[in-house]
Amino acid sequence: MGLSTTEFKETYLRKYNDGWSMKSTPCPFLTPEGCSIYDMRPETCKEYPYTGKDEIVFRLINLINNCKICPVVFEIFQKLKVIYGREFREYKRVMAPYWR
Ligand code: SF4
Repeated sequence: MGLSTTEFKETYLRKYNDGWSMKSTPCPFLTPEGCSIYDMRPETCKEYPYTGKDEIVFRLINLINNCKICPVVFEIFQKLKVIYGREFREYKRVMAPYWR
């Protein structure tokens, strides 16, 4: 890409919470064919959507545990299951031809 890490950060990134984020959206490297710097993409892009991060797993386990002690959390969880269950069934229907 011809940029140092410092130049890349100064040109494309901004500080965001404890890490970095792209300065502009959509990402300047996103093309109709996908990521134009895929082999060199930043670590955060490789980790996205962060499902392997300990804190994500911890939060999910906490949420599930809270269903046992809080009726409000339980009700929210039930509603999310209905909403995302419907969307997931539609996603599976649309994607099925590509999974064969
Ligand atoms: S993977 Fe990262 S660098 Fe590539 S298009 Fe997506 S956000 Fe941009």
